[in-house]
Amino acid sequence: MNDYTLKQLVDKNFDYYKNGEVANYIPALAEVSPKQLGIAVYDLTSNELMKAGDVDVRFAIESMSKVPVLLLAIKDCGIKKVFETINTEPTGFAFNSIMNMEINHRKHPMNPFVNAGAIATTSLISGKDANEKFERILSFMKQICDDTDITLNKEIYLSESKTGDINRSLAYYMKGNQMIDEEVSETLETYFKQCSVNVTATGIAKLAAVLANKGIAPWNNQRIISEESATIVKSIMTTAGLYDESGEFSVHVGVPAKSGVGGGLMAAIPNSYGIGVFSPALDKFGNSAAGIQLLKDTVQELDADIFQ
Ligand code: GLU
Repeated sequence: MNDYTLKQLVDKNFDYYKNGEVANYIPALAEVSPKQLGIAVYDLTSNELMKAGDVDVRFAIESMSKVPVLLLAIKDCGIKKVFETINTEPTGFAFNSIMNMEINHRKHPMNPFVNAGAIATTSLISGKDANEKFERILSFMKQICDDTDITLNKEIYLSESKTGDINRSLAYYMKGNQMIDEEVSETLETYFKQCSVNVTATGIAKLAAVLANKGIAPWNNQRIISEESATIVKSIMTTAGLYDESGEFSVHVGVPAKSGVGGGLMAAIPNSYGIGVFSPALDKFGNSAAGIQLLKDTVQELDADIFQ
């Protein structure tokens, strides 16, 4: 595999964007051009980053933020506290559903990658106020993506906040049932901000490479997270990383992955590769239409399916 092969895979899969639509629940996302596709692959064996297509275009991290924020919550509070607050079961319901907590009397959000679980995760981040909590999240994202240019996209944040009433209902429901105990409105604003951070496929590949490399940044050999937290997060990515397409993706692609409605995808292939993909048109499950096809071809080309 080299940059040339990767470019051929980008060209082959580019037109799949036509099978999707850009997220339109907020104006700032609806304006993004669907005609973009890029992939970055960090190879842990050669310690090299391969790139093709729109890898340095900035886009909103959205639900992929659930990965670094979970890692930071584990650093702040420890594995025990985090998973006493949030379960680790896949749901079979929509990512912003209240069903399991309400109808099935679950006392905890189902997993950290559905919105209720992600908001509960954000409530565990340390900091004296909402500002400090978000600054800590931002600085951790910069470190783990090896990208000092990551910033908050204020336009997306304001849109997320303006249209965030389902997330508000989840958070107040959890607070009312003693499932989270932080100041809800501040936690929500921090959650909206963490979703609105601008990243690139290159930075996401590096984040995934840290997960794949058992918590050590391969570019400088420094440990960023514990080996145990890297293992746990990869496992949850396998069962719940791609909304209602998680099972199908695991069967057909076979690597731990996480998506976001900004069109990003990350995949962490244990001891081998970290992959970041970007293409903003989404399939009916909310995952990148061309991105999934490109990731599937790339995993096949790399012969990296973890279940083979
Ligand atoms: N900010 C979005 C929400 O909470 C994230 C959606 C996503 O990427 O799944 O609805």
